[in-house]
Amino acid sequence: MRYVSTRGVAPELGFGDVLLEGLARDGGLYVPTGASAQLGGSGVDGEPGPIPPYVELAATVMAPFVVPDMVAARFAEIVADAYTAFGHPDVVPLVELGDGLWVQELFHGPTLAFKDVALQLVGRLMDDELARRDECRTIVVATSGDTGSAAIDACVGRDRLSIVVLHPAGRTSEVQRRQMTTVDAPNVTNVAVEGTFDDCQDLVKAMFAHEAFRDELRLGAMNSINWGRVLAQIPYHVAAAAQLGRCVVSVPSGNFGNILAGWYAARLGAPIERFVVATNRNDILARWVARGDLVAEPVVATLSPSMDIQVSSNHERLLFELLGRDGTATAELLGRFRATGSVEAPRDPAFVAARLDDDETLAEIARVHDETGMLVDPHTAIGIGAARRARATGAVDPSLPVVCMATAHPAKFPDAVETATGIRPPLPARLADLYDRPERYEVVAAHLESVQELVRVNVAR
Ligand SMILES: *Cc1c(COP(=O)(O)O)cnc(C)c1O
Repeated sequence: MRYVSTRGVAPELGFGDVLLEGLARDGGLYVPTGASAQLGGSGVDGEPGPIPPYVELAATVMAPFVVPDMVAARFAEIVADAYTAFGHPDVVPLVELGDGLWVQELFHGPTLAFKDVALQLVGRLMDDELARRDECRTIVVATSGDTGSAAIDACVGRDRLSIVVLHPAGRTSEVQRRQMTTVDAPNVTNVAVEGTFDDCQDLVKAMFAHEAFRDELRLGAMNSINWGRVLAQIPYHVAAAAQLGRCVVSVPSGNFGNILAGWYAARLGAPIERFVVATNRNDILARWVARGDLVAEPVVATLSPSMDIQVSSNHERLLFELLGRDGTATAELLGRFRATGSVEAPRDPAFVAARLDDDETLAEIARVHDETGMLVDPHTAIGIGAARRARATGAVDPSLPVVCMATAHPAKFPDAVETATGIRPPLPARLADLYDRPERYEVVAAHLESVQELVRVNVAR
């Protein structure tokens, strides 16, 4: 498989380069050149018949995207290894809620959020590719909470990767901070920046922009625009559709990576008929569906912080397809959006949308608990609530089953769950001692040279 940039200028690359490169040199995102109807006859195309175990299915679905850069047999081994870290034998189990609604639990990974599904694989794939090239990378990540711990866990035990994570001091939840700072591994450095999440993100961007520093430390990225992350999310959409047949997926969306993976699954032949974009009050994507425009508004804080995003980076990949794979037109559209904050944008009628505010989110958590006894986190509740609304308005056919993506474990957001239900969800056994483990992190001012010095010292080890 070869990959091209959505902005049409950067060179075509194979999988290994795309994995390590992240963002294309022309500012675009890499997309596969041929991704259509590959599932036919593979046993996972929604036709009746036995469905292979998840790791086998996942390796089969993804293999065409990684060969010939990676050998298929080696790739299958890495996929199998990635998902041994998950706390459920089915990896991403599908659970029935009733009334034709299903929940696909994507939170059984080591850090309890769906980002593990992609990052556990991406960390191993990067390590393997770097070993082949005899190179190393220093991963630098800014986080407001969830991404940091998933990226750290993806780097633990990987010989070729070190990671430095910048979080805003005192501004993450205690669970989130402890999940990052209690990891005791020589290649992990946590930095509490005296500033906001935006300061952290600006510092990371400045380090990447400083070419001498970037080359000296061989900086690498694991952010959600990496094609490897989208790829790793395609198989669970395929698995759900293989089990249920013709269906709808409802996805709590922020950077649009998860739902875009569902769209790719459908392109490959999975019988997914509609995609429900579920958002909180930061609803640029819901407005895109309703009005065919992209209009940036200030980000507001909600009970579902992992979706508090206004510019959804992966959306560019879909826009590129909707513009007939025209890189010049895509670059022009996104350039105008950046300059003016408002553009008309093409739509795909397969995408429908619904948004829930915080009160509606709490009401949905309470409703699911009342009706099924199940505790769901605020992000997951938005996916379920959006699915109900899309059915009620007729935006999706109510006779089709809907798979609601459960993107975080309820114990990751215990305050909201307790407010809604009166029950404080306990951490799973493997994390039960989180509050007793020692924390390790450095505190530093939001000042580029100080942070660079800290990265240098810690990576030199
Ligand atoms: C990252 C995240 C999301 C948003 O996913 P995207 O792929 O960025 O749309 C939703 N819920 C949770 C819990 C997350 O961590």
